[in-house]
Amino acid sequence: MKHIFLKLIAIALLAALSAVANASSHTGHSGLNADGEVPLLMPGTKMPFKLWEVEQVAENVYTFRYSFYRNFFVVTDEGVIATDPLSAEAGPIMQREIRKITDKPVKYVAYSHSHYDHVAGGQVFKDEGAAFISQETCKANLEENPNPDVVMPDVTFDDYYKIELGGDAVELFYFGPSHDNCLVVMLIESSNQLFLTDLANPPDGWTMFYNPAISEDRPWHMVRYFTQLQALVEERGIETIIGGHMSGSFDPVTNRPMIVKGTTGPATIVEQKFGLWKAVTSAARDELALGTAPEDVPDRIVEKGLLKDKISGYDPEKMRILMQRMTALAITGE
Ligand SMILES: [Zn+2]
Repeated sequence: MKHIFLKLIAIALLAALSAVANASSHTGHSGLNADGEVPLLMPGTKMPFKLWEVEQVAENVYTFRYSFYRNFFVVTDEGVIATDPLSAEAGPIMQREIRKITDKPVKYVAYSHSHYDHVAGGQVFKDEGAAFISQETCKANLEENPNPDVVMPDVTFDDYYKIELGGDAVELFYFGPSHDNCLVVMLIESSNQLFLTDLANPPDGWTMFYNPAISEDRPWHMVRYFTQLQALVEERGIETIIGGHMSGSFDPVTNRPMIVKGTTGPATIVEQKFGLWKAVTSAARDELALGTAPEDVPDRIVEKGLLKDKISGYDPEKMRILMQRMTALAITGE
């Protein structure tokens, strides 16, 4: 299958992010109307773009997107289970949006991982009495590198935690190092939707890495991580993924940057990204086994066109950088 529509690349995303940032800093937010409409969006397009947006994705499940970042929250009769507050700017807006849906307090805030660009901004929920939950290594990361905008977790766990409230629940699963060393996936009990952040994003698991040096990722554990994640998807019969990001892409006709719609997508993206990690892991090993010198392995693999027709936004230079890292992994085991 051709992925003409899905040539997701980081440049578009970054350009759009800075466009949004510029739009908001120029207006100081005062120029925004109540639902976050901003005049501009992706450079070179005229597509209206809201800085933030709430979408209902199941009976009592909502997503909140701010810029290109997204979380979800579950509304129950006893209160709200919220996730990643996203940023100091986004947190108070999210709180206002939740108030439009329910007058019940936010009781829990769960963190997907420890990166500031997802978990900052929770103070407003702390102030209304929410308990903050994270995997234990996330708390250790935040203690080692504190950020004044990130609320420290109150409750930590090792490999599994279940947040139960008002007849619904959110399960948190930790499968070891992956995108960082404490990232969890979250499963909503009532809707059986799985929330993924920074591992794979709807609608496509075959996307070029945002950063091919994958400096934040732990490539030595990716195949093992995805083995467990894929098993979870199959055991629980999960069909729908909520993505922690909005995707950028290119218009297939004009080749201009555009936004890909799709807050939720099929769970097959897990299998796709699993396939990508398996392919790049074994390609380096196989090329070394042929007797190719380590320094030549990335070039050989790019010449052979590994995943060239599969990866949306394929970029030979990015693939070469990625394969440098995967070659080091094949040699050192780490
Ligand atoms: Zn991250």
